Amino acid sequence: MTEETGTSGEPSTDSSRVVLVTGGTRGIGGACARWFLDQGDRVAITSRTGVLGPEWTQSDPGDDRFLNLTCDMTHAEQVEAMFSLVEEAWGPVEVLVANAGITRDTLVLRMSEDAWSDVIETNLTAVFRVAKRAMTKMLRQRRGRIIVMSSVGAFLGSAGQANYAAAKAGLVGMARAMAREVASRSITVNVVAPGLVNTEMLHALPDEQLAQFQAQVPLGRLAEPEEIAATVGFLASPGAAYITGAVLAVDGGLAMGL
Ligand code: NDP
Repeated sequence: MTEETGTSGEPSTDSSRVVLVTGGTRGIGGACARWFLDQGDRVAITSRTGVLGPEWTQSDPGDDRFLNLTCDMTHAEQVEAMFSLVEEAWGPVEVLVANAGITRDTLVLRMSEDAWSDVIETNLTAVFRVAKRAMTKMLRQRRGRIIVMSSVGAFLGSAGQANYAAAKAGLVGMARAMAREVASRSITVNVVAPGLVNTEMLHALPDEQLAQFQAQVPLGRLAEPEEIAATVGFLASPGAAYITGAVLAVDGGLAMGL
């Protein structure tokens, strides 16, 4: 995938793009990975365990266009090794979906330094690391799409989520700065901010709290991971070539106006 595509910065469309989805084994990342596979792209996913969620059984991706790589994004050397593997197999990453994330919710007075730094490391620092690494090759290619997974939590600042809100809000500023730095090379950097999405992460919440949150969603329901993936897919498409530094909320209206 070294062919130039002019000034629009569109990822190549001559054959399948090289897509990297961090945290792609399940949930939102899993849906994103399957969205790109359905388009005919080559998709590498990462996770700490490599264990694919049950949703994958319905769409076995096969081997030639799919890499399931174990890589803890908080370890710089693992990230470097993972990029090398992808590049050796298919060439430079053209579309990065920086999606992997964790929660360690608790009230500030009970929040340990570890709970703070684990979330900041995974949800903010690791995104910087992986975006920077992807960008080095995108700059040479003069094209690329970076999509960062934030959250409504960045704007709501929900109680019990000081670490998560800080990381997810940090992503917005980081992505905008990156967007400005790489715009002259036709690379776009955008943020998706999902609301409540029906994944394992949300299942960790007590039922009562989940019902309370859901009652605040104007559309009155949770999102399915595929609904987030559709927005991510759009941001990676030729139709989104003029969108950069944007924050797209996919939240049923939960954070509208914030
Ligand atoms: P899940 O917990 O279902 O999936 C998280 C994915 O990230 C898994 O593949 C997990 O695999 C991987 N992961 C976690 N930590 C690491 C790490 N250090 N290195 C590599 N992979 C890692 O979460 P969701 O799908 O719900 O969330 C995906 C993203 O969307 C997150 O960034 C989350 O903050 C965000 N989001 C989610 C919302 C929701 O309601 N679900 C709402 C708003 C935003 P493994 O455990 O094997 O490492």
